[in-house]
Amino acid sequence: VIYREKVQGSLKETHLEVRTSSERPKAHKDSGTIMVKNLYLACDPYNLNLIKFSTQLGSPVPGYGVARVLESGHPNFKKGDLVWGITRWEEYSLITAPETFIKIEHTDVPLSYYTGLLGMPGMTAYAGFFEVCSPKKGDTVFISAASGAVGQLVGQFAKLFGCYVVGSAGSKEKVDLLKNKFGFDDAFNYKEELDLDAALKRCFPEGIDIYFENVGGKMLDAVLPNMKLHGRITVCGMISQYNLEQHEGVHNLINLIWKRVRMEGFVVFDYYHLYPKFLETVLPQIKEGKIAYMEDIAEGLENGPAALVGVFSGRNVGKQVVMVSRE
Ligand code: NDP
Repeated sequence: VIYREKVQGSLKETHLEVRTSSERPKAHKDSGTIMVKNLYLACDPYNLNLIKFSTQLGSPVPGYGVARVLESGHPNFKKGDLVWGITRWEEYSLITAPETFIKIEHTDVPLSYYTGLLGMPGMTAYAGFFEVCSPKKGDTVFISAASGAVGQLVGQFAKLFGCYVVGSAGSKEKVDLLKNKFGFDDAFNYKEELDLDAALKRCFPEGIDIYFENVGGKMLDAVLPNMKLHGRITVCGMISQYNLEQHEGVHNLINLIWKRVRMEGFVVFDYYHLYPKFLETVLPQIKEGKIAYMEDIAEGLENGPAALVGVFSGRNVGKQVVMVSRE
C-alpha cells in the first residue's frame, strides 16, 4: 500500500494506492537487517502521523504490525521468530533497524492481539492510566473514544482498579458494547447528545476525577467545567483535531485554575520499559477472562486503505486490524 498523494486535511483512500510487485527483499548475512512476512497490520491514528511526517510519496505506508522473520542477518533474530514493531504495509518487508522490534514469546493468544491489546495501544492504556492518571480507588473516570483500542482497555483497567467508569462513543452499538461487554458503569453516544455538558452532569453528578482524553475539541471543552477539585486530565490523543488544517480553540481552560486540575500529556514510547511488567499483569487477566477485547479485522492488504480511513470517522468497532496473512 503506497503513499500516492500528499495528505492535506483529511486522509482519503485516494491518497493511498495498492500496487503489486513480484520483487521480494533479501536480508543478507551479517547485514544487521531482517526480512519479515507481515501477518497483521494495525490501523492506528498514529499511522496518519507517520504518513504525513515521515513517509515519502511513492513509499509503502509505515505502521505497527505483527510479522514472522523469514531471513535474518541480525544476531538477535532467527528464521521463524514472531515479532511486533513498526513495519510497512506490504507482504514482505526488509527491516533495517530490527532492534526496535519486540519478540513475541506468548503465542497462546491470537497473534493479532500484538497490534492492540498486547501491543502499542495496550501499553498506552496501561501507562496512561497507571502512570499518568494517578488513580485512586473510587475515583470517577471518564474516557472518550472509549470503545476503541486504547479506550476499551483504560475502562477495564479502571474498573478492575475499583473506579466508577463512564465512556463516550459514536454509535448505539458501541455504547452497548461499553456497558455490556467491557463492564463500564455507564456510557453515552456523543453524536446523539445535543448537550454534552448535560450528558456529563447526568453521568457524573458529583464531577469527574479523571478524564482520559482521546478526542479533544468540543468534548474537552464540555469536560473542563465538570472536573472535580484536584482532578486529572490525561491527554492521550485528540483525534477530532488530526484531520483539521486549523485546530479548534478550547474555551473552558480557565477551569484548570479554579478546579486546581492537573492536565498532562504523555507518549507511550517513554514507557516501553514497563512492557514486561505489563505482560505479566495483563496476560493472566486475559486468560482468566477478566479483560474482554474487541477487534475489527479487515481481510487482505487491498482492504487496508478503507480500514485505515475508517478509523478517522469511527467506522471501526474495536481495534481495527488488517490481516495480511494468517501465518
Ligand atoms: P480507536 O481504535 O479508538 O479509533 C479511533 C476512534 O476515534 C474511532 O473509532 C472513533 O470512535 C473516534 N473518532 C474518530 N474521529 C473522531 C472525531 N472527529 N471526534 C470524536 N471521536 C472520533 O483509536 P486508538 O484507541 O488507537 O486511539 C485513541 C486515541 O489515543 C487517539 O487519539 C490516538 O491518537 C491516541 N493515542 C495516543 C498515544 C500516545 O502515546 N499518547 C498512543 C496511541 C494512541 P467513535 O465512533 O466513538 O467516534
